[in-house]
Amino acid sequence: GVRVRGLSRGFDGRAVLENLDLDIAPGEFVALLGPSGSGKSTLLRAVGGLDGDPDGRIAVPERVATVFQEHRLLPWERVWKNVTLGLGGGLLRERAVAALGEVGLADRADAWPGTLSGGEAQRVALGRALVRTPQLLLLDEPFAALDALTRLKAQQLVERLWEQHRPSVLLVTHDVEEALLLADRAVLLGDRTLSQEFVVDIPRPRPLDHPRFVELRRQL
Ligand code: ATP
Ligand code: MG
Repeated sequence: GVRVRGLSRGFDGRAVLENLDLDIAPGEFVALLGPSGSGKSTLLRAVGGLDGDPDGRIAVPERVATVFQEHRLLPWERVWKNVTLGLGGGLLRERAVAALGEVGLADRADAWPGTLSGGEAQRVALGRALVRTPQLLLLDEPFAALDALTRLKAQQLVERLWEQHRPSVLLVTHDVEEALLLADRAVLLGDRTLSQEFVVDIPRPRPLDHPRFVELRRQL
């Protein structure tokens, strides 16, 4: 799980996060909502240890993997190499193909990233995260750039992978519906700290027309 205490982070003398606490239980799926510029990515980077040295205490598991809004694949490496970049050990191609199989792209292992569609590239980025068998998966609006149907499929894929592997997940999203579809709990970032939280008590699999959706939407 994750335990954040008293996290503060500012830029150029301007506070973005102030004295923020956050807990994520092992295997829990948490959605982080908040307006643009409120500090969601800053919080996610801090949790992932990708942001220098913020103030406060942050305890996370050993294996953390992040998927960003853009796929961040290296165009000069084939898909399978991108998936296993930086990993040690043997059988890298086999491990890459297995992870790509989980996101439905085993047949694109030898493709160049530039030949993938946006949705495929994001699925490769998800495969690159999965091959690291993360205990914590950090997702920063990974589907925001996708069309509605591709996004829905990607959301269902993430839910299926989460149910299979049970990492803790912190998903940054603008999309209230996405939070209600996927998360156990939604937390709201406002005024430099977590201002509200909602347990999403809708049984899975979650039908989008569930009456609780309507109620929770109104509260958010
Ligand atoms: P969005 O929904 O648009 O992605 P966000 O909630 O993720 O927004 P952040 O990217 O965390 O917001 O940024 C929060 C604030 O911190 C913004 O005002 C941003 O300009 C500022 N900020 C973030 N990173 C830096 C940086 N490296 N240097 C200076 N300012 C930064
Ligand atoms: Mg952001």
